[in-house]
Amino acid sequence: MFAVLSDALALILPVDCAGCGAPDSALCETCADLLAAPRPLRHVLASGLVVHAAFDFADRPARALRALKEEGRTSLVKPFAAALAAAARAGFPDAGTLFVPMPTSAAAFRRRGHRVVEAILDRSGLPTLTVLRRIRSTRDQRELGRVERTRNVAGSLLARRRLDGRRVVVVDDVVTTGASVSEAARALREAGAEVMGVACVAHTRRSGLIRDTDLNPG
Ligand SMILES: [Zn+2]
Repeated sequence: MFAVLSDALALILPVDCAGCGAPDSALCETCADLLAAPRPLRHVLASGLVVHAAFDFADRPARALRALKEEGRTSLVKPFAAALAAAARAGFPDAGTLFVPMPTSAAAFRRRGHRVVEAILDRSGLPTLTVLRRIRSTRDQRELGRVERTRNVAGSLLARRRLDGRRVVVVDDVVTTGASVSEAARALREAGAEVMGVACVAHTRRSGLIRDTDLNPG
């Protein structure tokens, strides 16, 4: 409903492309083509978790993702959902794998009025298991360095029920140091799940992520 509304508003209000700022289109043709053709990337976090991302968190995809998250440009849910699905299916092809969204914090929900990760995952067509819950509030990770982030989120998530024998993948919109998704993996393992890794829309190049090419030079 939000997407329909925002498309309708684009007809009557001036709007710039969410990816590049070009005038008169919510998403220009170049940016739409770019989002429609993700080139999934595989990385390994310091915690050993494998991350499959649809995009680098840079340039047009990063700008469009910020527009979705911070400006409520919810017409972007659809292209990002398709990109996430492509990366997740390529990275985790096993049938029976369930995709678990990172829960949106109460503060982020109040600020944005929507749950970004859940919305993208809902639209992706991936089999979803919404099972994580926040058991204590945390500080905004954006203010913190890597070590502080890990400390900030430690013990903050809990699986609502036992997941023995389930194969799961943690899903987030943006992975930076991986502290949040690593905490999710811990909570899921504690509930008995086998955590296959992480699927995300975009990852940043900040420390905490090691490229495969760095692990296997040449
Ligand atoms: Zn554009």
